[in-house]
Amino acid sequence: MSDAAATFGGEGRTTITDAQELLSVDAQRAHVLEHLPEPDPIELKLADSLGLVLAEDVVSDEPIPAFANSAMDGYAVVREDHLDATGETPTRAAVLGTVPAGASEPTPIGSGEAVRIMTGAPLPPGADAIVPVEVTREQGGTVEVFRAPRAGEFVRTVGQDVQAGQGLLAAGHRIRPADIGLLAAVGAGRVHCYPTPRVVIFSTGDELVPAAQRPGPGQLRDANGPMLAAMVRQAGAIPYSAGIVGDDRKALMHAFDSNIGHADMFLTSGGVSAGMFDLVRDVVGTLGTVWAHKVAMKPGMPQVFGMLGDVPVFGLPGNPVSSFVSFEVFVRPAIRTIQGRRDTLRPAVRARVTEAIDAPADKRTFVRVRLRREGATWTATPTGDQGSHVLTSVVRADGLAEVPEDTTRVSEGDKLTVHLLVDS
Ligand code: AMP
Ligand code: MG
Repeated sequence: MSDAAATFGGEGRTTITDAQELLSVDAQRAHVLEHLPEPDPIELKLADSLGLVLAEDVVSDEPIPAFANSAMDGYAVVREDHLDATGETPTRAAVLGTVPAGASEPTPIGSGEAVRIMTGAPLPPGADAIVPVEVTREQGGTVEVFRAPRAGEFVRTVGQDVQAGQGLLAAGHRIRPADIGLLAAVGAGRVHCYPTPRVVIFSTGDELVPAAQRPGPGQLRDANGPMLAAMVRQAGAIPYSAGIVGDDRKALMHAFDSNIGHADMFLTSGGVSAGMFDLVRDVVGTLGTVWAHKVAMKPGMPQVFGMLGDVPVFGLPGNPVSSFVSFEVFVRPAIRTIQGRRDTLRPAVRARVTEAIDAPADKRTFVRVRLRREGATWTATPTGDQGSHVLTSVVRADGLAEVPEDTTRVSEGDKLTVHLLVDS
């Protein structure tokens, strides 16, 4: 998926929407998803497949159980011998021996005979029911049976769980621990899955210093780099932090160039607006293909998306909340899509707002809210200052409420769709 190192560069195509023209959120997301590369499945050891999406249907060659065996510790018997057994009038059989779990050739029995049998041990030829040890008494090589067994009682039959040739899991299924158990049981030691994408992240801006450093005059710490890396990880991909890059054409070129070999996706923040030092669009356009759109959303209006060979590039706006929301709206669905996942969008609820909200016309506004559940209904309360540089109101939020483009005022008690910022 990421061996575009040698081939990227040189297309130099740039598409920029007219300054007046706003693209809808849905159109921008559709545009992004449509350009994503088809992921190449990889073959993995079963133990490494947790959380990944299957690229193939898995069919069992074998039945489970593979042989008839006992579901109890007890006695394997011929059922007909014991139809009249009761607590007062036990029936009897001669005990020929013991069949432990793992026995390869259990002793056959006939009428009037029984063997001791352990859970999971193969059913001896001739036996057709198991009597649990709790309803028996053994004395001097004879077992007394105090309850009549039902037909096939406590016998696990061949293929009871899985038939040979049965489809177990379908392509597109995301592997959970129980799936790994089942696949191990049928001997599927390797599976074809979609790989975990590696996302190279860098923050652009001459004013930025690493979080560990004390900012000088006019400088600030890079908040987006660590935040976006965490969001990438939470979305299920592997972040690769490439640090801070200044507002410098050559430095930006080098940042893409030196990282493309290990990138399935690039994620940058800052430098995508109309300022003199906003160079991300031009650099991506020089190296590959770029689309710079003003998207009808708040926050997060300027969006750069491009392709360097088959590696998608997201240039997110620099304000931390704009970056956060842009990631949620465009990048997270893209990461999940290239993982083959179907749950590309956050779960959402409809919630009543507890206070009025004003929103700009013709834009989809994402409002940071705190959700509460009152009986069967959810309520959503804005978490404070909604400025695109104010991270504390994101920190207090557990949802992003969506005010539609055609709505400029939401009254107290009105319902909005709220995307849940849960770890899933
Ligand atoms: P830009 O999109 O580059 O015009 O940046 C918009 C605003 O976001 C400016 O106030 C930047 O200082 C700020 N900003 C840009 N990148 C970061 C970052 N990585 N961490 C925190 N703030 C940032
Ligand atoms: Mg900047």
